[in-house]
Parts: sequence; structure tokens; C-alpha cells
Amino acid sequence: MSIEIKPRETTVLLVEDDRDDFFLTEDLLKCIPREPHRVVWAASYDAAKLELSERPFDVALVDYRIDGRTGLEFISEVGVNFPHCPMILLTGLQDPELDLAAQQAGAVDYLAKDSLTSELLDRSIRYARQNTQRWTLLNTVLENAAAGVVSCDANGLPVVWNKRALAALQVEPPKQGKISSAMVRDALSRLMVDGVLPEEFRTDAKRSYQLGISAGSDGGTVISFHDVSSRARTEQLLRQAAADAEAANQAKSNFLATMSHELRTPLNGILGMSRVLALSNLDSSQRDHLSVIRGSGEALLQIINDILDLSKIEAGRVELDDTEFEISSVLEDTVKLLASTAFAKGLELAVVLDPLLPQAMNGDPLRVRQILINLVGNAIKFTTAGSVVLSAKHEIREGLSVVHLVITDTGNGIAPDKVDLLFKKFSQVDSSNTRNHSGTGLGLALCKELVRLMKGSIWYEPGERQGSTFHLCLPLGSEHEAVGLARQAKVRALAGSRLLVVTPSDAIAKVVQCYADVMGQQLFWAKSEREAAAVLQQNQIAAVILDSMDTTTDPRNLLRNVRPTPGVKGPVLLHVDGYPAQGHQANGIRYDETLPRPFGLGFVDALLRHLQTRQPAPVAGSQPGHRETAPTPSRLRILMAEDNAPNRLVASALLRSAGYELEMAEDGLQAVEMVKTKTFDVILMDVQMPRLDGIAATQRLRAQPALRDVPIIGLTASAMKQDRERCLQAGMTDYLPKPVDWDRLLSLLENIEKAAKLKLNAA
Ligand code: ADP
Repeated sequence: MSIEIKPRETTVLLVEDDRDDFFLTEDLLKCIPREPHRVVWAASYDAAKLELSERPFDVALVDYRIDGRTGLEFISEVGVNFPHCPMILLTGLQDPELDLAAQQAGAVDYLAKDSLTSELLDRSIRYARQNTQRWTLLNTVLENAAAGVVSCDANGLPVVWNKRALAALQVEPPKQGKISSAMVRDALSRLMVDGVLPEEFRTDAKRSYQLGISAGSDGGTVISFHDVSSRARTEQLLRQAAADAEAANQAKSNFLATMSHELRTPLNGILGMSRVLALSNLDSSQRDHLSVIRGSGEALLQIINDILDLSKIEAGRVELDDTEFEISSVLEDTVKLLASTAFAKGLELAVVLDPLLPQAMNGDPLRVRQILINLVGNAIKFTTAGSVVLSAKHEIREGLSVVHLVITDTGNGIAPDKVDLLFKKFSQVDSSNTRNHSGTGLGLALCKELVRLMKGSIWYEPGERQGSTFHLCLPLGSEHEAVGLARQAKVRALAGSRLLVVTPSDAIAKVVQCYADVMGQQLFWAKSEREAAAVLQQNQIAAVILDSMDTTTDPRNLLRNVRPTPGVKGPVLLHVDGYPAQGHQANGIRYDETLPRPFGLGFVDALLRHLQTRQPAPVAGSQPGHRETAPTPSRLRILMAEDNAPNRLVASALLRSAGYELEMAEDGLQAVEMVKTKTFDVILMDVQMPRLDGIAATQRLRAQPALRDVPIIGLTASAMKQDRERCLQAGMTDYLPKPVDWDRLLSLLENIEKAAKLKLNAA
């Protein structure tokens, strides 16, 4: 079975008032091969209009003369309302200008009746329909585009546009006729500012548009109109919301600040009176009740203080103090304050201070303490076993003198996905109803704000194996770093000694290890009396640290190893006191010193004090770069010319403790003067100095025959080879780069001393 596909009929409206002409044209249309044509005849202007409005036509053939009017009029007036029906003008006239007029009226083609053939008609109709289909497609795309579009020709005359563009340009169709190119052009001109279209504009109807301009075909331009009213509105709303939120936040901060202040007054009354009441005669249950009142009151006061602080910071009402304070005392006080809470939980608590930490720093000690109490308090709160260590060191960061504080604990740490919640106000990492610890979630937020005010930084890192580590860097500039330097010099002199800690507790061993690390000492850890005895037999131990909490070790047995021969000085014996609640457990044994808990700077000082008097032999090779043997006291007389006071302080602590005689000159001129009255075996000469630099001073000294052979060692901060060579050319024996490697200097001095002795013996 075959299916016959019938070609679609082309419907043609023939607008023709001449009957003969109609039949003639109809015959020609019927002769068109392939496609059948159904022809509808309209003999008048109005009849044609009616036909068009009643049914769709594929094409209209319009005679030039119709009903006393012209076909051109019909096409431009009626045809414009039927864009899907292309119109072809038929005329008996042979007028070349008519062609152009037909095009301007909107006709798609122009055919002369006297030369009309079926083929001509067929081709014209097919082209007309094809054009209309293309135009319809373009029109559909244009009208469905998300943006308004106006396409202009090379003369800037709008040729094509869509409804969205007309809406943006606020062009309304006239009552009679259609929107003309000129109307669109005028609307565009009205938009221009100084002859240029703006990037964005807002219409009277309060809609906002963004303009896009791109090159069109034939040198024309395409202007697009993007409606951004909703985005602009959203932005406006956001701006408003941000301003409202800021105002509300400010109002809240003010309210909280006032409220917290008001709350504190009665609370202070409650706390004060409970203190007074505690002085009166109370039985034990009344005392218990009173302590609950006091404890709760103090907890409430803490919360109120935190809220007050935060709201004051937010309201910009906190001013930081800037005074000189002792950083080590602030750190030790903080730890002492929290020690009872830590000890009650059986935790080891310590403060480990870098010997280089300057003693006096500038800043707000109370606020530093407040931050530390929060961080160390949290570490104790969230740790059930082990230790909490607060350590501090001095660093230069981006040219600033900075205290780097680290708080480590051996608690459970913080889950990685919760770390972002830290430092956020009112956020608890564990906010479940089952959490073990109370708290407002304000502490870390407050710390962060205070650190921000101090222009410092605070961050969290998970502990190496367990627990949490909080870092705090505070730029607390110091003018008195020499004190730290002096302590460091002493520590360096004892670096390399061997320590033994006897304790079964990991926590204590860890804390003592922190100290041994900062002091450059080697630590042995014995968990039992037996292990300790073995270490003592195999090593020359400078100090033994005994833990009074260790009930498994009998100090008397240990002492037999430590002090085997009565009268002979063995290692220094230090005893770490029990937790305060357990009291002193010295068992009648004479220790060199009993150290109180919590561990602090006192531990370093005690070690230094006892080790220095005992002069233990540092261990060969235990610390790379450290001296292998202590120098025997010598009579080498040294003159040091150095203008920098901290450097003088370090040198004097170090060289004098090594047994040298030392005199100081503050510049080259003073050095030259001093050698006139006193004899020196070695001269240490800084290169850069006021009044007379080291090079010139050396030249003057070398000019004196008596000083020709005295070793002069230059100390130069310059890394340039030629500068160092200048030292030798000036007559220096040797030079050392700055900062001075004291071990290198000491071995240089020892060599000079040996050479001097050899010379003496030979003589
Ligand atoms: P809170 O008053 O709840 O202690 P913070 O702001 O001080 O408020 O701490 C917020 C949360 O961070 C705590 O609830 C706790 O979950 C977590 N956190 C803080 N410090 C530690 C720490 N050292 N170890 C484990 N979790 C901690």
C-alpha cells in the first residue's frame, strides 16, 4: 500500500478590482506546477481587509489600483497588521520608482502585469513565503529573548527591535499606525548623556536596565537592554538590611554593656556579704551552703564580666593600657591561680619560659592575664588526664618584638569539622544537651577580640599526638631585652649538662623535658628506682629531679646512688613538691632544693643556681656546637670594645663565668685610651661604633709597638667579604660574624690562651 502525500495548498488572496485581470492571474496561478494554489478574490479594498481578518493567507497579490485607492496604501495600512502574509504588488505601470515605493510600503516584491508568467509568479511567491518564514523565526527569537534588543544600521537608524526594548525605552505605539524607526531613534537619543549611551539607567517606572552595545552586521550596532531591577532591588535591600543590623548590633552592645554593669552592682553586694557572713559563727552545713552561694555568684560574675567586655569591645569602649610589666610574673601568676583546679583533677600544670624572654614588656598586663586565664582555664577544663603547659618565647616577627605563647593540653582535642566554630561568639563546639562542661561559649570570642585590639594573632592547632594547642602572638615591644639575654648567657654556659628525672608520670617527664629543651640540656627519664640507678651508674648526671608524688621510689635508696661517698659532691638533688593539698613529703631527706608546684621560672633559676656552684662537667658532644669541657679558670685579660649594651651584658655574663677577666669600652676611642693604662691579652673589637670605629681603633693600636702582637678579634655584622677583609688589613688577627657565636668565641679564646702558655713555657 502506498500513501499519497498531497502537497500543501498555497492560499492566495488576489486583491483586484478588474474581473478580467483576476481570471488571467488566477489562470497563471493554476498553471504553476508542483504546488496547487487556492485563490480567493477580493474585488475591493474593504473586501480584502475583511478576507485577511477572517482567515490566514500565505500570500496576497495586490493590484496597484484598487477601488480608487492605491495598492501601496493597502500594503502599508492594512498589510502591517498581517505580518505573516507577505504582499506582492502587481502593476500595469512601468515605473522604476514604483519598485522603491513598493519596498518602502512593505511589499516583498513588485511584478509587472504585462510580462507576468506562471514561472515568475511561482518564484516570487516562493521567495516571499521563505522570507516571511525567516522573518517570523527571527521575530519569535527576538520576542522571546530575555533582553530587549534594538539593531541599528550603519547610520544609527533602528531597523529591528523587540517589545522588551520598547518597554525599556518607554516607547508606546501611536493611536494610528505603527512604531516607526524614528520613534525608537528618538527614545535612544533621550537616554544619551553627552551623546553617549549610559551603562545603566532607571526608568520613570522605577525599573533598572543595564545596557550592552556590540557590533552588528554591515557596520551597524546592536543595543541590548538587560532588566536588572530585581538585582538592584536586592542590593538596595541588602544595604538597608546591613545598616539595620549594624544599628541593632550597636543598640544590643550598648544595652548589654549597660545591663551587665547594672547586674554587677547587686552581684557584688551578694558576694561581698557572703564574704562577711563567712567570718561569722556558722556551723559546717551553713558554711557549705554559703560556699555554694559564693561559688555560684562568682560564676555568674564571670559570665557577666565576659558579656560586659565583649559588648564594650563591640561598642568601641575598651581602651588598652600600655605600661611596662614583667611578663614572667603574669605567666606565673596565671598558672598559680589555676593550679588548684588543675591539681584537683590530678593534672600536671607548668609554665615553661624561654630564657631569652625579655623580663619587661609593654602592654596591658591585666588583659594578657585575662586571655591566658581563659585559654589555660579551657585547657584544664577539657583535659581529664596528663598535663597542661603554658610556654612562652620571644620572637621577632615582621620586625616586631613578639611574645609567642603556646598552651598545650593532653585532652580530647577538637574535631577538625568543629574548629571553625572556635572563636565564634556564643558557640560551643559541643552544644548537645549531654555535654560534660558548662560554659557560655564567650571565652574564646573574647580572647580573639582582645588579641585583635592588641594587634596580635591567635589560632588553634591540634596537638601532636592528642589534645589541643592554642597559639597566641602578642606584639609587646620591650626595651629591656638585656635581662632575658643575661639569663640566656647563664643557661648557655650550662648547656649540655645531663639531667635525670625520676617519676612514673608521663606528664611530669614531659614538663621537665620542655625545660631541658629550652636550656639545651640532655634529659634522662627513669620511671623507677632501678632505672634511675642504671642511668646514674652509666652517666655523669648533673642534677636529679625527684617527684614527691612518686610513691614507688624510695628516695633513700636512690640517694645511695646519688651520693655514694659521704663528703663528695654528687649531682644536684632537686625535689618537686607534691600538690599543695598533699603537703610537703621530704621524708627527712636533705635535698638541695624543694621546688614548689606548679613548675615555673623558679625551676630554671634553681637549676642554674645549683649547677653553677657545683660546676658539673658538660657532656662531650651532647649538644652540637657546645663546648666540650669547661675552661679552667684563666688569667687572660680581655678588653671588649662594644657600643651595644645588651651585647656587653651577655659577653660579661658569659666570659666572666668562663673565668676570664673582662673590661668594657663603649667605643673605639675609649678602648684606645684604656690600653694606655692597662695591659690586655686579647681585644674584642666591634667594627661599627660611634666616635671611633673598630677599623680605625685597630690601626691606632697597631701603631703602638707594645700592641703589635696583641690578638685583636673583630666582631662584624657585615656579611660582605670585602668588609671582613678590611678587618684583617687594618691589623686584626681574626674576626667573628655577628650575632656572635659564643661557643666559637670561647674556643678561639682557649686557643689564644694555649698559644700564650706555650710561648711562656718556651721562654
Ligand atoms: P566556653 O565558655 O564554652 O568554654 P569558649 O569560647 O572558651 O567557651 O570555648 C568554646 C568551646 O571550644 C568550648 O565549649 C569547647 O568545646 C572548645 N574548647 C575550647 N578550648 C578547648 C580545649 N583546650 N580543648 C578542647 N576543647 C576546647
